[in-house]
Amino acid sequence: MGKQTGFLEYARKENNEIPAKERIKGYKEFHTFASEEVRRCQGARCMNCGVPFCQSAMSLSGMVVGCPLHNLIPEWNDAIYRGEDSHALARLLKTNRFPEFTGRVCPALCEKACICGQYDDPVTVRDNELYLIEEGYKNGWMKGDAPIKESGKKVAVIGSGPSGLAAADALRRRGHAVTVYERDDRIGGLLMYGIPNMKLDKSVISRRQKLMEEMGIVFKTGVNVGEKVKVSNLKKEYDAVVLCCGAKQPRALTAEGMEGCEGIYFAVDFLKAATRNVLDIESLPAKFDAKDKHVVIVGGGDTGNDCIGTVIRMGCKSVTALEMMPKPPVERAANNPWPEWPKTLRTDYGHVEAQEVFGEDPRVFKTTVKKVISKKGKITEIETVEVGFDKGKLVNVKGSEKKIKCDLLLIAAGFIGAEKLVPESFKLDMTPRGVVATPEGKYSTSVPGVFAAGDMRRGQSLVVWALAEGTAAAAEVDEYLMGYRNA
Ligand SMILES: Cc1cc2nc3c(=O)[nH]c(=O)nc-3n(C[C@H](O)[C@H](O)[C@H](O)COP(=O)(O)OP(=O)(O)OC[C@H]3O[C@@H](n4cnc5c(N)ncnc54)[C@H](O)[C@@H]3O)c2cc1C
Ligand code: SF4
Repeated sequence: MGKQTGFLEYARKENNEIPAKERIKGYKEFHTFASEEVRRCQGARCMNCGVPFCQSAMSLSGMVVGCPLHNLIPEWNDAIYRGEDSHALARLLKTNRFPEFTGRVCPALCEKACICGQYDDPVTVRDNELYLIEEGYKNGWMKGDAPIKESGKKVAVIGSGPSGLAAADALRRRGHAVTVYERDDRIGGLLMYGIPNMKLDKSVISRRQKLMEEMGIVFKTGVNVGEKVKVSNLKKEYDAVVLCCGAKQPRALTAEGMEGCEGIYFAVDFLKAATRNVLDIESLPAKFDAKDKHVVIVGGGDTGNDCIGTVIRMGCKSVTALEMMPKPPVERAANNPWPEWPKTLRTDYGHVEAQEVFGEDPRVFKTTVKKVISKKGKITEIETVEVGFDKGKLVNVKGSEKKIKCDLLLIAAGFIGAEKLVPESFKLDMTPRGVVATPEGKYSTSVPGVFAAGDMRRGQSLVVWALAEGTAAAAEVDEYLMGYRNA
């Protein structure tokens, strides 16, 4: 702990944000970096407390507290304060393969468990992490070196989302020849075609891809494994296969009048089309264009929020976000003490932007869609209804129905498991939750030599968990190939 009184002297200061009214004019990242001086003070706020919950990833009341990667947070905060950035970055990279992703999109589980946060504001762990990796790139400290020794083993990674990238990076560093197969035209999974550009600029992914290619990792994009590439050939060609195909089967909405009605789409399809348009890969199909439309989004969470930010940038006439759950409290409830994950209202960038543009919070809680109303096959309105619980069962509240104008209905109601093609092609055992079955705490599947990681094994989760899973799966693959592991 460099500065013993740091947490008393300096207030929390986050990275700056471009004001909402300004940033909605485009899709550029809206966070800008605080000065180096600010960053040193923010590092100094870390107390290096004896029990750093921030890096623990322990389970409390059924929820994980602290960083799933066990990032060595107090160590590198201290090094930031002392101005030892390259050392701090080396310590960060020891546990986190891609801080440029987590530093932008992680909900910072660490900060919710920071001891400073018990009575005051937590340390800006995520911003500090982002500062270090960006300094690394800026100063040429990030290098794509090939491993010193080749193992002679070949591994195929299927899927290039954060879990696939983490597995590929870890396996290559151990000297294995790694090929990553990706169905889409670009790598990154939901980092590329889920999370919008204003939150994660897509050049950040290309920059990492370049490094990984320099390390010797081969990316084959536009390849749908199970269809274009046969599983029997993969098994013959590679010593091990790691499946990181995500869990992108969306949860459908069942409301009267939906069948055959135009104007109702899954949020991820919409977000993907929007990003492809921003990147000039293909123009936005008219059906996804929210300009001058009344938009309703079903489902909160990151996906719903990203849809709000995107339709506002497109110039929608109005946006409403329906959320089935009741509105959470602003402050922690007495039965949800620190350092548990705070079950409080989370107001994200899209909510703030909607407030700025339309003068009110777009969220309507305890409400869902009961009926879709259409004219000539096109959606024009929806009928909403309040929901409540009766003897533990979700029920509609009689007489609470309301009509809302709606030209575009986006479904962001979560995901129900892995897509079928890969599990069926590999003949994998699955869990009742629709994800790949592996023994407790392991990544090996029911098929020898085939491993699974990320959302495909864990279910829809977070980027930081995908990185943790990809790294842990790679260690298991390493042991399978070599008879031992180094991590
Ligand atoms: C809209 C949205 C916003 C989100 N925002 C956040 C956020 O802000 N912060 C956060 O921490 N998490 C966020 N998440 C969750 C996070 O993105 C995921 O948990 C994470 O990307 C999972 O990583 P993954 O590698 O397991 O899978 P994915 O990222 O889904 O990647 C799977 C990859 O496998 C490929 N694939 C599938 N089948 C095949 C096949 N047959 N052949 C070849 N390739 C195949 C897919 O094309 C895809 O590229 C968000 C999710 C969504 C949907
Ligand atoms: S990866 Fe996420 S939880 Fe871990 S230290 Fe970084 S911001 Fe915190």
